[in-house]
Amino acid sequence: MEMQTMQTTPSTQIVNIGGYDIGGANFTVIAGPCSIESYDQFLETAKGVKASGAHLLRGGIWKMRTSSKDFQGLGSSSADLIKAVCKETGMSLISEVTDARQIEEVYDLVECFQVGSRNMHNYALLKELGMQKKPVLLKRGFAALITEWVKAAEYVTMGGNPNVILCERGIRTFETSTRNTLDLNAVAFAKRNTSLPVIVDPSHAVGIRALVPDMAYAAAAVGADGIIVEVHPRPAEALSDGMQALTLSDFQMMMTKLNKILTAIDKPLHTAINKA
Ligand code: PEP
Ligand code: MN
Repeated sequence: MEMQTMQTTPSTQIVNIGGYDIGGANFTVIAGPCSIESYDQFLETAKGVKASGAHLLRGGIWKMRTSSKDFQGLGSSSADLIKAVCKETGMSLISEVTDARQIEEVYDLVECFQVGSRNMHNYALLKELGMQKKPVLLKRGFAALITEWVKAAEYVTMGGNPNVILCERGIRTFETSTRNTLDLNAVAFAKRNTSLPVIVDPSHAVGIRALVPDMAYAAAAVGADGIIVEVHPRPAEALSDGMQALTLSDFQMMMTKLNKILTAIDKPLHTAINKA
């Protein structure tokens, strides 16, 4: 998929996760904590976001932290609590694999494999994911060109797995007042020039709780197919990314306004599928 030969029409590849089509007529909301910290924290978050209309659950099992001294995620020991929370809420989980060996370990726990920003260039991991039967959410590298992001996606699609969702999560610019800079150009560009669904992660893009909803509204307005957003019942106690975590009530308020925007632009939220 060279840039010159790319399509100029909106996405044609629909990616289904947990019964929700991403890339079609409806908007998908993925929400949950940055890290899965405990059964209680994960269950409380999952129930809360579901009650406010989230469709799918996020939550890190292995975390790519800048400092090796920071919380690295519960890892494999969280398998049982994840199964319990997904069963209790009827929600499907999207979680990051940071290493190809983890694919098998979490295969039955997740409905979509996330590739983090720091791993967008990990071609060995992308090739492995190209051989899987489950979808892949590919975050844009924080210093990656749009063309590099699209080419990274091709490692998965050309490998035999067409179910890739692109995720813009902010890029590093000269600006330091916000964690990253949300590149809405990239969302519009990728929607017009690739066949893949495109979603936005407003949490990592801006890094400041109060600004996350505004970036979510912007994502909807620019034509994204969904958002993936970090929520924690008590952000001050979060073991990672507490500064950008919405509280459950912040999330509820955001969903109310997002719903109005999506209705206005004729891309309504998916109707919830109740599997619990
Ligand atoms: C995350 O989703 O928690 C995460 C680490 O995101 P990113 O890879 O975009 O930094
Ligand atoms: Mn995070």
